[in-house]
Amino acid sequence: MTRKASALSRYPEYEATIGIEVHVQLKTESKIFCSCPNKFGEQPNTNICPVCTASPGVLPVLNKKAVEYAIKAGLATNCSIAKISEFSRKHYTYPDLPKNYQITQADKPICENGFIEINVGGVSKKIRIQRIHMEEDAGKNIHATDTESFVDLNRAGTPLVEIVTHPDISSADEARDYLMQLHAIVQYVGISDANMEEGSFRADVNISVKKRDSEKLGTRVEMKNINSFKFIGQAIEYEIERHIGILDDGGKITQETRLWNTKDQKTVFMRSKEDAVDYRYFTDPDLPLLIIDEDWVSRIAKTIPELPHQKIARFVKEYGILAYDAEILAETIELGNFFENAVKRCNEPKQVSNWMLRNLLGYLKEHKLSLSECKVKPDMLAELIEEIVKDVINSKTAQDVFNEMAETGKYPSIIIQEKDLRQVGASDELDALVKKLVDTNPDVANNYRAGNERMLGFFVGQVMKQTGGKANPTVIQQLLKKYL
Ligand SMILES: [Zn+2]
Repeated sequence: MTRKASALSRYPEYEATIGIEVHVQLKTESKIFCSCPNKFGEQPNTNICPVCTASPGVLPVLNKKAVEYAIKAGLATNCSIAKISEFSRKHYTYPDLPKNYQITQADKPICENGFIEINVGGVSKKIRIQRIHMEEDAGKNIHATDTESFVDLNRAGTPLVEIVTHPDISSADEARDYLMQLHAIVQYVGISDANMEEGSFRADVNISVKKRDSEKLGTRVEMKNINSFKFIGQAIEYEIERHIGILDDGGKITQETRLWNTKDQKTVFMRSKEDAVDYRYFTDPDLPLLIIDEDWVSRIAKTIPELPHQKIARFVKEYGILAYDAEILAETIELGNFFENAVKRCNEPKQVSNWMLRNLLGYLKEHKLSLSECKVKPDMLAELIEEIVKDVINSKTAQDVFNEMAETGKYPSIIIQEKDLRQVGASDELDALVKKLVDTNPDVANNYRAGNERMLGFFVGQVMKQTGGKANPTVIQQLLKKYL
């Protein structure tokens, strides 16, 4: 697949400065300041209480699990955890926010000064994380028709962490790698399902472009709520090109918020930043300071599993597979476990990796299945690979066995037996067949002997045809050499 060269490689005198803010919905049982269920997709306004609807006199009570999850996010991204942090009120008016303020962390966030190491084209780079703070999500406005809108407060009070980088990212590829790593990390530590389509992992991108030799940063444009890695990469690439186009013509970038239009493949103006409001932050008097005990942090640290980048490095070292393949296998804990369990049985890491990347993931995608819904289990794939290694079936038959196994959940050895798929090996039967073919086609055989090597294909094709594709290709070659 060829890709268009990036705008930055075509205009090397320019550089981009990118910072990313990600909102991650935490998958706690209850909401952040009340005991309502924290659930997606229920009937509107069923998971609500006086705290969610901001009735007079109610008080927020902080969910300890949400704090634990925020600490996990911090530890997994190399942040320091603040002994004391605090909650503030961020004031604005919107129908889905009945309190008229959002409870968030402003001056004293729970985590600070972390980093994630990314790797693009074999070059690693640290993307510094400025802060991770906790906050509540707002409700949702549902615009039914041109004249009618509704408010659903089910989402109000969903616990969020917002993870903010320094502007250390300088290309669409780096941004995508950072986001994919962060996405894997929050799933590994079990704090979020990070479902981008359902909005539980939402990225806002700040981007500016300037000439390399210019001291002054370019004007910043913000892009909001882009819900796939692919679109984020495309949106950043589009924006860099747009900025360079304007700057090269001597024009000026206006500070604004833009949205990605998937259909037209371009960013579009959403609102001007000039009307940015002053949120009048102040410490929320209803919530005490959040004081975190060090022992608790060390107990939480013990629950942090092997993280994606550690797993990738281990897979490459321990199993000798390609880094690129390891990255895909380490995308989720489940996929990594599947790989290791299959290898444990057949001890063929490269084959397992190839079959998973080509066949298993392809099958899941084609049938819109998750790994846990798929009928293929690690020891079934291992058994299939064993049958290939032992020359019981050839690789073409193995493809059919894989598909059958995925459809029915039957073990490969059973499928091979039931359908009589064993390849005809170096048996006398195959020997006789090759001999007969050479004898009965003297013209073709002589043609080959005279130097026309393509004639070999005729015999291979005939053998395959007469054995129903079950002959071992290596053995056919050997036998043909013997008789020709
Ligand atoms: Zn509630």
